[in-house]
Amino acid sequence: MIVVLESGIAETQIEEIIRVLHDHKFDVHRSTGVQHTVLGAIGVHPEFDHRQIELLPGVAEVLRVTEPFKLASHAFKREGSIFDIGGVKIGGPEVVVMAGPCAVESEEQIFKIAKLVKDAGAKILRGGAFKPRSSPYSFQGLGEDGLKLLRAAANEFQLKVVTEVMDKSQIDLIEKYADILQIGARNMQNYTFLKDLGKASKPVMLKRGLAATIEEWLMSAEYILSGGNQQVILCERGIRTFETATRNTMDISAIPVIKKKSHLPIVADPSHGIGIRDKVIPMARAAVAAGADGIIVEVHHDPDHALSDGAQSLYPDQFSQMMKEVRMIARAIERSIA
Ligand code: PEP
Ligand code: MN
Repeated sequence: MIVVLESGIAETQIEEIIRVLHDHKFDVHRSTGVQHTVLGAIGVHPEFDHRQIELLPGVAEVLRVTEPFKLASHAFKREGSIFDIGGVKIGGPEVVVMAGPCAVESEEQIFKIAKLVKDAGAKILRGGAFKPRSSPYSFQGLGEDGLKLLRAAANEFQLKVVTEVMDKSQIDLIEKYADILQIGARNMQNYTFLKDLGKASKPVMLKRGLAATIEEWLMSAEYILSGGNQQVILCERGIRTFETATRNTMDISAIPVIKKKSHLPIVADPSHGIGIRDKVIPMARAAVAAGADGIIVEVHHDPDHALSDGAQSLYPDQFSQMMKEVRMIARAIERSIA
């Protein structure tokens, strides 16, 4: 932490600030410039609230130089993490495509979609069995029956499974059927749940909260990592801004920012990211170009009759087109897509 002092500050005030820093177990290095005296406070205290120093008389500004997240940071692990999910590697040179409906609706639906996404090159089948809907009157998912169908369809077409877990009571059940546990945007700051996920045995895909900063998102990942689960995949799924032309604002810039700050793989969700079907493909292209390790996309054989998120689900031919385009982009940046 760098503490910039006000110009003209009295020596007794400087000594008081240094004393407070020492009390908090920081080593202090003092540098006296022409205009300002600057104190370098050295020490690793993740729980320290820097506002305690900001409020002291004579302090002009406090700049934090280390990140509050430790286990998620690049300082903790230099090389990017690669998670092997039954032979599908996330975080390596290959950009992994996860695709499927928003929700599992029926046996016929999930088998049809699993086949078509597999044929186009997806490696992981997505589909919600427990759905976090804005309205309690909307379709809530098929529950365990949906999980069974999802697993059966994935097995039939040699795909892995990612599906959402909404609370602690579902973890054991969903671990029986899924390869990756998806944590929804609305749960990103449910800290007791994140602690429970630290004890889970399956990798977790943590979606970014609707109004979460990148730092808050990484701190949520830190909860899972510090709980003992080392396999956390981040997922950018769009944030709330003042823009109303799209459902959410897809923060493509989060991808290179995360790559610089963290060793964790990052996946992009252009379906929820923008929320309008005709703009999903350009966002998928942008995400791959920006360095995403994977993309998760909603696809439906009959989006016009989907029980949820039909308006952002790709038609089968659009999904094939997207795969063609993202493959070319991956090649241009020396990566690949199956
Ligand atoms: C979903 O993936 O269908 C979903 C509900 O996502 P999010 O949590 O990002 O809204
Ligand atoms: Mn959805």
